Amino acid sequence: MVNGQQHQPSAGSNVQHCSEHAQQALKLYCEKCEDLICSECTIKGSEHHGHDYVLLDEALKKHKKDIESLLLKVEGRLTATNKTLVELDDTKGKCQSQYPQYNGKTS
Ligand SMILES: [Zn+2]
Ligand SMILES: [Zn+2]
Repeated sequence: MVNGQQHQPSAGSNVQHCSEHAQQALKLYCEKCEDLICSECTIKGSEHHGHDYVLLDEALKKHKKDIESLLLKVEGRLTATNKTLVELDDTKGKCQSQYPQYNGKTS
């Protein structure tokens, strides 16, 4: 177990930063604008001042249904892709039985 002494953010984190406030992570969700915002976007004089916003985690919970339906769509597409792959595999198998010398054996 590595004892993390590094102060650099991990390269793998996919935190997005505010286009208005480059130093701020987008960790809030403006319900009025349906957009991701940072904490500085909510202060007086900023674009989203006075808007209703929630933490990103809360937004994910609230909008889970939307996300789930999106996932279902993606899954549907994946199933169709798999079917095509099976059909392709079937064609490949037919070719191989027709031409057994192309089976990859080099002995
Ligand atoms: Zn901002
Ligand atoms: Zn807003």
